[in-house]
Amino acid sequence: MSQKIAQVIVDVPTMQTDKPFSYRIPEELADLIQIGMRVHVPFGRGNRLMQGFIVGFADEKESGGQELKSIAEVLDFDPVLNREQLTLADAMRETVFSYKISILKAMLPNLLNSSYDKILTTEDKAIAKQYFGAEQALHFSSLDESKQALMMKLHRDGKIAVQYVAQSKESIKTKKRLALADENKLKTLAIAVRAKKRLALQDFLQTQNQIGERAWDYTDLVKLYSRDVVKFFVSEGILTLSEVEISRTQGYFDTIAPDEHKVLNPEQEAAYQAIISSQEKPFLLEGVTGSGKTEVYLQVIAHAISQGKTAIMLVPEISLTPLMTNRFIARFGEHVAIMHSGLSDGEKYDEWRKIMSGKAKVVVGARSAIFAPLHNIGAIIIDEEHETSYKQDSNPRYHARDVAIWRAKYHGAALVLGSATPSLETRARAQQNVYQLLHLTQRASAQAEIPEVKILDMRKHLNDKSASFSEVLLDKISEKIAKGEQVVLMLNRRGYSSFIMCRDCGFVPECSNCDISLTLHMDTKTLNCHYCGHTTGIPHTCPNCQSKKIRYYGSGTQKVEEELSELIPEARILRMDVDTTKKKGAHERILSSFGAGEADILLGTQMIAKGLDFPNVTLVGVINADTALNLPDFRSSERTFQLLTQVAGRAGRADKKGEVLIQTFNPDHYAIRLAQAHDYEGFYQLEMDFRRKLNYPPYFYTVQLVISHQDEEKVVKKSYEIMALLKANLSEKARVLGPIPKPIARTHNLYHYQLLIKYRFEKNLEQALNQVLDLTQVPDNKKLRIIIDNEPQNFM
Ligand code: ADP
Ligand code: ZN
Ligand code: ZN
Repeated sequence: MSQKIAQVIVDVPTMQTDKPFSYRIPEELADLIQIGMRVHVPFGRGNRLMQGFIVGFADEKESGGQELKSIAEVLDFDPVLNREQLTLADAMRETVFSYKISILKAMLPNLLNSSYDKILTTEDKAIAKQYFGAEQALHFSSLDESKQALMMKLHRDGKIAVQYVAQSKESIKTKKRLALADENKLKTLAIAVRAKKRLALQDFLQTQNQIGERAWDYTDLVKLYSRDVVKFFVSEGILTLSEVEISRTQGYFDTIAPDEHKVLNPEQEAAYQAIISSQEKPFLLEGVTGSGKTEVYLQVIAHAISQGKTAIMLVPEISLTPLMTNRFIARFGEHVAIMHSGLSDGEKYDEWRKIMSGKAKVVVGARSAIFAPLHNIGAIIIDEEHETSYKQDSNPRYHARDVAIWRAKYHGAALVLGSATPSLETRARAQQNVYQLLHLTQRASAQAEIPEVKILDMRKHLNDKSASFSEVLLDKISEKIAKGEQVVLMLNRRGYSSFIMCRDCGFVPECSNCDISLTLHMDTKTLNCHYCGHTTGIPHTCPNCQSKKIRYYGSGTQKVEEELSELIPEARILRMDVDTTKKKGAHERILSSFGAGEADILLGTQMIAKGLDFPNVTLVGVINADTALNLPDFRSSERTFQLLTQVAGRAGRADKKGEVLIQTFNPDHYAIRLAQAHDYEGFYQLEMDFRRKLNYPPYFYTVQLVISHQDEEKVVKKSYEIMALLKANLSEKARVLGPIPKPIARTHNLYHYQLLIKYRFEKNLEQALNQVLDLTQVPDNKKLRIIIDNEPQNFM
């Protein structure tokens, strides 16, 4: 087999480049290049060096005899993408309308998509002597080409280890290491008898050498023998000092106490048995909040591991708190890799490497963890499967659930979708037996009962003292605080934001690039645009009428916090929202402080609705249940129902009985009524009715197209062209709605129009949409932006 030609997907996300290009493999790289490695290749007329992925090989004759460019450089010592991932990318290309290169890059830790260097180390003494000299490690970039190729060969033979390091120093955590460089000199070095510490270190190093230890932590040796003594051995050339990268999460695992399996209750046991005995179809584990779904997940994963397999556990980003991850570490210890957005690029890379090396058997993470390069997967679990954060809202717009279905099939793994409030799509599939439905109807912990939920009609409870709180809720809060119990208060922040307004003329400053008012940020004393990031100072006089009466309308939570501390001065309040959780680790600090009883009230946005498990919380108050109901999105009832059910589930999780108070101006709305009754199944029936009547998902599939341009006339014109193109290509049964302006019609100085395709079966859909994607490549459309969103989760 002659492997002379490599097929490379180049990092240029356009339609013309959305296919492999052929490159000649230079002689010296011939037996080093493998599928799934990254390379640098000259591209385009200017032959600029671009990064690319090797996705296949071809024979010389297949290339049509034309003169090919050569690969300039191989970037990896081992493939960074495996065959499964490349096959998956092919499959995703067909349903996620974005270019192959974006899909491939989404599968890798960021560090590998940015600038980095490779550090080489060896344990082999002969090689160390020959190539490393006095160095502990070599920087790959500092070697000449022939040496680089040689190092790759040595690596292939297992003689050299490789680590990637980010070139920006702050993302690397290093420690100083000392290594034995000259054994003979160590033995023969004459040290004066009174230099006791020097003698002691000499003795130590010799005995260590005898048991095969040749490297030590610098700080350890300094602590034992002093800095000067260590320095002396370094200056004599006996020890060499170097800095090595260390895993940033090391040590964390030791602080978590191990935890034993719980004995499953009969419902849990039935679910568990079903899951481990068949991989035929995915499971929907529908279980009320606190019913012990997580315990089922843990045991399903343990079962996979006992079979020598691995597992992926997806949780929504927001619930990926230490509270949550510790439950997995407590069971599976060092076998757990955690992947979430709070980690630095370096930390993510460490976790990725732990997975690549086979050390990690369980990956716990948010959306992108679904790409974890595990082999032999036995179980994939998606907790809170209804969460919209599983759908990526930038390219590639994949849904983690779809990727999970694909991978579970590929590995013959069990797939579990868990939720107290499954998405209608998922629940409907279970109805049709595409998924197997499993129910947990009781709370798991013996004494915990489902909390009682009261609805307060705010039309009747308008309170003179406060705009946000009814007397009933205030009294309840005081009562709980007096008993030493804790309260969670949720403010539904969607559609609620802080801004400034001129008292005289009513002027509200808007973003100059977007049709939206600027949001007031008291912490930085600025006005920010939440869409494009535009920031300005707070004006002292009104730009419209020059009045000095600028009024601040404080953010939902901030304002409510102030109000609350006036109404109940003795309450200790913790606030959790985007402003208070910006800093790394702030989220955890607030939660652990609340858990430790340092506050009576946790006041927050949707953030607090999920995953909190505090036994002392006996009251949950929802300050405004309504705001999400009025949004122009057909899922607004579903979202409201899910949110209220989730937040209500935070009350009474242990032996103390929980109460929930929901303040609303729509007390008769079915989403609120049914959340009160904890009646998911009832909600499902009603909502399905409504969706059927209006031809919405899950009865119909949807694809949203967003067409954007600086020039509004042009967007409208192009939108109609695209609509015509779609109509010409799709069957009569498909409906193409629009074009209409997006609810926020202009952001980033671009006008946005949307089209919505509703369909049931369309065999030409993929081809038609690819044709639309092609449109952006026409020179006349250079400035046109088209987003194709398959099964959009948001219509705002
Ligand atoms: P969910 O994930 O459904 O919200 P959890 O798994 O967090 O529920 O369980 C809720 C509480 O019940 C936790 O404190 C958990 O430790 C406890 N629990 C779960 N299963 C059992 C069991 N079989 N026996 C005793 N306690 C359990
Ligand atoms: Zn004014
Ligand atoms: Zn803006």
